[in-house]
Amino acid sequence: MIKFDCLTLFPKMVGSILSDSILKRAIENKLLEVNFIDFRSFSKMKHKNVDDSPYGGGAGMVLMAPPIYEAIHSINDNDKAFKILLTPQGEKYTEKTAKMLASKEHIILICGHYEGFDERIRSFADMELSIGDYVLTGGEIAAMAIIDSVSRLIPGVLHNDMSAPTDTFENNLIEFPQYTKPYDFMGMKVPDVLISGNHQEIDKWRQAESLKKTKEKRPDLLKEGNN
Ligand code: SAM
Repeated sequence: MIKFDCLTLFPKMVGSILSDSILKRAIENKLLEVNFIDFRSFSKMKHKNVDDSPYGGGAGMVLMAPPIYEAIHSINDNDKAFKILLTPQGEKYTEKTAKMLASKEHIILICGHYEGFDERIRSFADMELSIGDYVLTGGEIAAMAIIDSVSRLIPGVLHNDMSAPTDTFENNLIEFPQYTKPYDFMGMKVPDVLISGNHQEIDKWRQAESLKKTKEKRPDLLKEGNN
């Protein structure tokens, strides 16, 4: 069981991934809990503002520290939770980080929006994470990516717990090629070994193809062992 508390101004956006398929079932089976906290409701400003113009001038609006601080402190046992600030300035998110997070019981995700965060908000987090070298309009898509990729590592969440260990990035490899019916699609046939029924040969072929594919597509995985 893993619990996420997601601080966001747009809860419906993140919530959309929980209403179908694997994550929906994980919630029903009490393997996953996701709560949303709209930190606007913690604003003490007259018009519930959560942002203001930057000191020193410049474009855009900056999220203020107090509503986010108050929102975090409204969460039960927030002192024990692992707190993540979503920002393009953070460490790049990988499957290795997903595995580390899957060992936590309670994670708080802080989604920014607009121009970004007041720098003092960084001190509330245990870790800053980026889902890639590009800038999103808000942290919600990053939160969705993290909730989804961490949840599928929780035992029981995937229908077949055997699929995660062969997935891409396991053992610094890309997954072997997969085929299903029809056997012949426009002259492209399924490799004979896969219909041979010889499981030892199939395993051998899959290992070799996985290595070959990784060398072709992601040689960096083999070199850096960054998973
Ligand atoms: N001005 C900020 C900067 O240059 O670092 C970017 C702010 S961005 C427009 C607004 C929010 O989207 C960020 O505060 C963050 O929460 C989220 N965000 C944008 N890109 C992201 C990424 N690659 N990974 C994670 N979160 C991201």
